Amino acid sequence: MIRIGLGWDLHRLVPLRRFLLAGVELEADRGELGHSDGDVLAHAVIDAVLGAAALGDIGTLFPPSDPKWKDADSMELLRLAFSKVKEQGWRLSNLDCVVTCERPKLIPYRERIRAALAAALDVGPEVIFIKGKTAEGLGPIGEGAAVEAEAVCLLER
Ligand SMILES: [Zn+2]
Repeated sequence: MIRIGLGWDLHRLVPLRRFLLAGVELEADRGELGHSDGDVLAHAVIDAVLGAAALGDIGTLFPPSDPKWKDADSMELLRLAFSKVKEQGWRLSNLDCVVTCERPKLIPYRERIRAALAAALDVGPEVIFIKGKTAEGLGPIGEGAAVEAEAVCLLER
């Protein structure tokens, strides 16, 4: 059986926060605002794998109202979420993602991001891909006030 999952997330970008994508810190003058560490890509991937297995979503598993998740390491949340997916017998076939922000450029970090996601999801980096896009200066993402991530995954069992 195969199942497709889709995840999406957006975070504000503000000064004095780290800019994290799948736990990899990018050099930037702004970072993601969030109750957790704000890792927009980790959050989109969590929703994609949970959605494919119909096991809920990031908000139900890790409610922002729970102080336990304040400043949480989102890659740890991804490992926790994916362990629930694995318990149901699923394994990841592939994961494809888009991250949209005006800066920084994602390309220099892409291989590290792929490796970080691969390690958290029990696969090799060859089944994971990340594309960096800009919003062409339009809207809040184009103005550098936000970053958005989308993730699509395929699970098999
Ligand atoms: Zn988020």
